[in-house]
Amino acid sequence: MSDFLQELSHLETKDKDVVTLYNEISELAMRECVKRIAAKEQRNAYYLSMEFLIGRSFYNNLMELGVLEETKRILAEKGVDINVFEEIEDAALGNGGLGRLAACFMDSAAALGLPLYGYGIRFRYGLFRQRIEDGFQKEYPDNWQRFGDPWSIRREEEAREIKFADYTALAVPYDVPIIGKRVNCLRLYQAEGCAEAEKISEYLYPADDTEEGKLLRLRQEYFFSAAAIGELVDRHAKLYGNHFESFPKYNTIQLNDTHPVLAIAELVRLLTANYRVSVPKAVEIAKQTFNYTNHTVLPEALECWREELVRKILPDIADILLKLVSLQKRELKRTALSPAQCADLVFYDKGVFSMAKLAIWCSSAINGVAALHTEILKKTLFATAYSVYPEKFQNKTNGVTKRRWLMLNNPELSALIDGAIGTTWREARADHSALKGKVTLLEDDFIAVKREKRRQLFAYIEEREGVKIPEHFLVYAQVKRLHEYKRQFMTALAILEIYDLIKSGAVTDFRPSLFLFGAKSAPSYVRAKGIIKFINEIAKLINGDEQVNKLLRVVFVQNYDVSYAEKIVAGTDVSLQVSTAGLEASGTGNMKFMMNGAVTCGTLDGANIEIVEHAGKENNYIFGATVDEIARISDSYDPNALLAEKPLHKKAVESLIDGTLSDGGTGCFAELYNALTQGASWHEPDNYFVLYDLESYVNTLLAINRESGEQKTFARKQLYNVASSSFFSSDRTIMDYAENIWHIS
Ligand SMILES: *Cc1c(COP(=O)(O)O)cnc(C)c1O
Repeated sequence: MSDFLQELSHLETKDKDVVTLYNEISELAMRECVKRIAAKEQRNAYYLSMEFLIGRSFYNNLMELGVLEETKRILAEKGVDINVFEEIEDAALGNGGLGRLAACFMDSAAALGLPLYGYGIRFRYGLFRQRIEDGFQKEYPDNWQRFGDPWSIRREEEAREIKFADYTALAVPYDVPIIGKRVNCLRLYQAEGCAEAEKISEYLYPADDTEEGKLLRLRQEYFFSAAAIGELVDRHAKLYGNHFESFPKYNTIQLNDTHPVLAIAELVRLLTANYRVSVPKAVEIAKQTFNYTNHTVLPEALECWREELVRKILPDIADILLKLVSLQKRELKRTALSPAQCADLVFYDKGVFSMAKLAIWCSSAINGVAALHTEILKKTLFATAYSVYPEKFQNKTNGVTKRRWLMLNNPELSALIDGAIGTTWREARADHSALKGKVTLLEDDFIAVKREKRRQLFAYIEEREGVKIPEHFLVYAQVKRLHEYKRQFMTALAILEIYDLIKSGAVTDFRPSLFLFGAKSAPSYVRAKGIIKFINEIAKLINGDEQVNKLLRVVFVQNYDVSYAEKIVAGTDVSLQVSTAGLEASGTGNMKFMMNGAVTCGTLDGANIEIVEHAGKENNYIFGATVDEIARISDSYDPNALLAEKPLHKKAVESLIDGTLSDGGTGCFAELYNALTQGASWHEPDNYFVLYDLESYVNTLLAINRESGEQKTFARKQLYNVASSSFFSSDRTIMDYAENIWHIS
């Protein structure tokens, strides 16, 4: 490593701007990374994902190379503060949890020394940059490459052609080294060729409300899946000749959600067209090669493709898919299943292909991402498949990398842990639960760490948002994609109620608190954008109220991304994880907060359940309806009856329409009001049970506020969460994938 540090110490820094310096230092470090890229093993695992939400690479890579501290020192000697590189924005090649999970998995596999290779798309523009203007979300293109891209290497010589009916695109790989005990690669393909071809890798999730948009999405999915499969097939032929029975012996492929499922059809297409493998044989090979992770039970997210659409741009793939359908039907006929069961399993119906059903049929292992989610898959969504192939189903509770989400973002807390139990917990897979025994001794130190992280967070918020928060404020945070099922709306209503209770004097002794939001809404998701406006209007009302703003503040940060998340999870006291039970598959934000010592205020949903199992119910705050309760009441649930009974709810809800808050004449508040009280053709009134859980939510938020006054007791609860968070390290998750699905070491 001394090569890098030596070159760094000779680097001329005078008169260079931040972007130039960033690129020069990154390039020096990159030389070191490239030298260390491991040769591929005989058997490798491949992770195909539409998204990789890596975040900022600079600090993380220097940390992984073991030179972060030295670099900081050398730069300081030259008069350069290492923090200046924070103005280089992150590449956001993902939307949220699913993409961030892929990034955590890549990190953990490298740390554990496992041969895992990622495949995805090198989008020209990542997820939009968000600004809040007059309380509304505004979207701007995320031109991340304007800072350069020193952390990837273009491999022009390995480009391959991807054929569509109307043109051929060139898939040019860019390799991003993933540094750990082993240096693996994430390979992102950029589409080149004609102007049409270039569009394929232009935007992450282009709008798909038009046929044109849908075709583009389909092209993207096929583009990277086919590029990856083409590469693996060529490699196999080169190393092992035309013996494709052994393909699954050397290759295991994880499909991250349904986006890459066309990889199955592409493998069958290549083997049958180029290597004279029969379709049934090729399907056998596919079944042994692929594995599928489901990430959501929301029906709108389970991808289906119309045959006609597939045929338009991928006629060969459409033919292959139909051949697979016949084969599947023949296979099912030989079983004792009822016609209804068969119909439920076949991945083609009325001219539409179901990607999830194809994945289920052609995978060795199918997994959900938290214990509850996997149970829900088995019992409801994939019940028939589970009854037929119980052996395929596994649970793999998500995790987050402790390197980025504890060691890098919270060196102060990491040092506290070092002091208490030594430094071996930092190694991959190692555990820090020995901290549990020291919690009482460390109350004061932990309080000091939290105070410092809160101070850093508030300074950053002041710089970015221009609002100053007094340092003693307790922080409740809800940061995640904006979606109705995540119920930011419920938090907004709860805040309005608490505001009312303080203002009327019904609640006294309220500990000053900040409610912090960060969330992007899909550009076309009108109702979610209405919720953003609603939160911002509440913020305006409360922050501007001199009588209350010494006790209560609301801030909605702009452009929530990985770098913002790193700061927010460290400075937060209370993690708000309040999805409607049964709808958040796992969540990973909840784990980052836990790892940094926030208590969870949440519903019994996703991984929250496992969080309280590990850290204790007494150290967290669980409220609201369970999955069973929701199933029981959902038919008879009447939000209007509830509103009639609860004047506090009524007042909060009516602020949407009584002139208390203004939606700037857009009508979006009336629409939110109607969503709660009237519903629409596509959903029931209060479809997400916001009003049902609201009272217990407000009471829980108030209880936390009261208990947080017992500073030491509260700090113990927080620290106990830190001590219990080892299970939620993605090192544990990846070991489980490696041992029980991938069989790699
Ligand atoms: C972790 C993370 C998410 C996922 O958050 P959830 O609360 O699990 O939905 C989304 N976006 C970013 C930037 C993250 O870091």
